Amino acid sequence: MSDQTSPYETLERIETRLKHMLRMGVRYLDAEAEALQRLRRPIYATQTQTPASAAARPSTRPAAAAQTSAPQQPASLPPVQLPPMPDDREQAMRQVIELVAQCERCPLHATRKNTVPGAGSLEAELVFVGEAPGRDEDIQGVPFVGAAGDLLTKMIAAMGYTREQVFICNICKCRPPGNRDPQPDEIEQCEPYLKRQLQILKPKVIVALGRCAAQTLLQSRTPISRLRGKWHEYEGVPFMPTFHPAYLLRDATQKRLCWEDLKEVMRKLGKPVP
Ligand code: SF4
Repeated sequence: MSDQTSPYETLERIETRLKHMLRMGVRYLDAEAEALQRLRRPIYATQTQTPASAAARPSTRPAAAAQTSAPQQPASLPPVQLPPMPDDREQAMRQVIELVAQCERCPLHATRKNTVPGAGSLEAELVFVGEAPGRDEDIQGVPFVGAAGDLLTKMIAAMGYTREQVFICNICKCRPPGNRDPQPDEIEQCEPYLKRQLQILKPKVIVALGRCAAQTLLQSRTPISRLRGKWHEYEGVPFMPTFHPAYLLRDATQKRLCWEDLKEVMRKLGKPVP
C-alpha cells in the first residue's frame, strides 16, 4: 500500500480482495499487526478519490505475520463511482474503456482474457445490449463475434444499418466463466459503465438481446417471451427486448418474432419497414 493511497481506497481495495478470496474458498489470511492497527484509525468524510482509483482497483497482496480470520459474509461493495464525464464524446468513451480495462470490481476480472467494453459509432442512434461476453468475445475483446455475432450483423443489415453505424455492448464487460449468466453483484458493479456509455451516446433506441439483458435492464423476472415485442424504458431511453442471436441459432422458428421486434424498432427510428 502506498502512503499516497487514501484510507477509502485502501479499505475498498482490501474489501474487494477479501470478497474475491472468500469466493475462492479462503477462510483465513495473514495480516501484519501494524496494518491492522492502521485500519482501526478513523476515516474522515473529506477524503477524495482520484478518477482512476474511484473505478479501478489494483491488486493488493496480503502481508505475512499475525493470523486473523476473514469475514464470514462478504460485504457488498458500493456501486462504482465514476469520475466526471469529459465533455468530448471520444474522450468520454475512451475514459470508460480505460476504466473497464483496469477494473477489478468483481471476480470476473480474475478469469478474463480481455475486457469487452463495446464497439461501434459514437453517433449511434441504436444501441444493442447483451448480457456479457462469451468465449470468442473474451479472446478478441470485441462484442458479438463468432456465429451469434454473424447473425447479429445480418439482423443489423436487415434493419438498414452496418455494425459501424450502431453501438454494440454488454451489461457486464468481462466474460463469466463457462458462459454462465452474470451474478447480481457482478451486474451491480458493472452496470454503471453501461449507464455512462448510454449517457455518452444518447441513443434513440436500445435493443436488449436475450433474457438476461432484458430482465436486468427491467429488473424483472418475467420471461423474455413476455417481455419481447413491447416497448420499455431504460435510463430514459425506449428499449425493445428481443431474442439473443445465440438462441435464434438454436431455435430458428423464433427468428420471425425477432424480426417483428426489429421492425418495431425501425418504425420508432423512422426507417422504411419492408
Ligand atoms: S465485469 Fe465489470 S465490474 Fe466486473 S471486473 Fe469486469 S469491468 Fe469490472
